[in-house]
Amino acid sequence: MKYTIGIDVGGTNIAAGLVDENGIMVSIAGRKTCPPRPAEAYAEDMAELGRELVEKNGLFWEDVLWLGVGLPGTVNINKGALEYANNLGIVYAPLKEMLEKLLPCKIYLENDGDAAAWAEFLYGAGKGSRDFLMVTLGTGIGAGIIMNGKISRGVNYAAGEVGHMTIQFDGEVCSCGRRGCFEQYASASALVRQAKAMMKNDRNKDSLLWQLCSGNPEIVEGKQIFQAVREGDEKTKQVLEQYLGYLECGITNLINIFQPDILCIGGGISRAQDCLLEPLKELCSKHVYSRDSQVQTKIVPAKFYNEAGILGAALLGREGGICQ
Ligand SMILES: [Zn+2]
Repeated sequence: MKYTIGIDVGGTNIAAGLVDENGIMVSIAGRKTCPPRPAEAYAEDMAELGRELVEKNGLFWEDVLWLGVGLPGTVNINKGALEYANNLGIVYAPLKEMLEKLLPCKIYLENDGDAAAWAEFLYGAGKGSRDFLMVTLGTGIGAGIIMNGKISRGVNYAAGEVGHMTIQFDGEVCSCGRRGCFEQYASASALVRQAKAMMKNDRNKDSLLWQLCSGNPEIVEGKQIFQAVREGDEKTKQVLEQYLGYLECGITNLINIFQPDILCIGGGISRAQDCLLEPLKELCSKHVYSRDSQVQTKIVPAKFYNEAGILGAALLGREGGICQ
């Protein structure tokens, strides 16, 4: 049996996993990211995590086909460099070369969103598809685009910034400098903001959300919002309906542009099938351009959640479906 190693570098944790030929994660290791640090320090940590996985599983480097890394920033795969990662404090680091000096195996780098989509495409929600989109609802909205079985990166390796697609002309200001961006309205954080705004305007405080978060709007999260909706709270239902309208607008745009076989939704709130995925599917089916065609894009939840980044990084050597 041969193995590959995947490393997912986030703003808080560097998580690594040993993955077997069947795409099963058999062992994990990790440490804190502690940004900002020089690129050499991150590379040293990644190399140590790789060595740790090899040693604790009784393997030799000959058993490891490659090590892949998913990074939170712009990754130039031709140069093998992380060109920019705001939350790591890095502006240009030739990480591939740095890791090749530290480890006796082949190295792949990729943007973390693309790596996660790659895992879902090969073994998760997108298995069997050819054109696949993964849209992740978190603090912002990220995406990975797989077209014709290949990761679509764009001319400057920043394709898939779907969170910055305008859905409201001249709408709310976004950190990217534009207005009305999708993620200002339809990220998980946006849903929480919208619920908090409702609570603060709820003078009688008779929305069930007040009870569910013990009178403190600051602790409201997706799970209380969905619970309030399930228990029939009208005011929270209105918040969710408006949110679903925004989400549907962006998702329908994406379906119209890309026509993927499968579009998968990731992020913690996508687990709420009844409150989120099912109504979203219903709305999209009414609005997508090709709604009368026999074949429709399937909208499904992500399979791997937090593990997608590590798994996708470990599978990077397989791009194009070819195991090297
Ligand atoms: Zn924006």
